[in-house]
Amino acid sequence: MPATMTNKKLTWTCDHCNKPISPGDTGYVCVDDQAALRAEAAWAETGDSMDVINGAVVMAQLITENAAARWSVTHHKCDPNPDGGYWIGANRLTTLRELLEMNEHLMEKSWVAMHTDWPAWLTRTLG
Ligand SMILES: [Zn+2]
Repeated sequence: MPATMTNKKLTWTCDHCNKPISPGDTGYVCVDDQAALRAEAAWAETGDSMDVINGAVVMAQLITENAAARWSVTHHKCDPNPDGGYWIGANRLTTLRELLEMNEHLMEKSWVAMHTDWPAWLTRTLG
């Protein structure tokens, strides 16, 4: 049986001011992509010398709380780094389906999958 999904709207809350990102606000989900890309480059340099088991352990650690870059939700006006980073407009993530489609897209990016906390963040985000 397929899962049943109600197309409930997602409401994002700014991590900085704790207020919702309303449809009229400019807000987004964002991450420091440069930090993640630096971590990926460092990983590539050491990767050759690691065996598969060690690599899997390190990867699991990165995916949880030790990720080089962490996702956050912010209004543009509250963003401490408004000119940098990789971001996805909150207006593109208004339903669970849109969020899952974005998940599929982001998991194709190794720097997101391995060097940001996206998987853990996504779980937390969905409560
Ligand atoms: Zn805010």
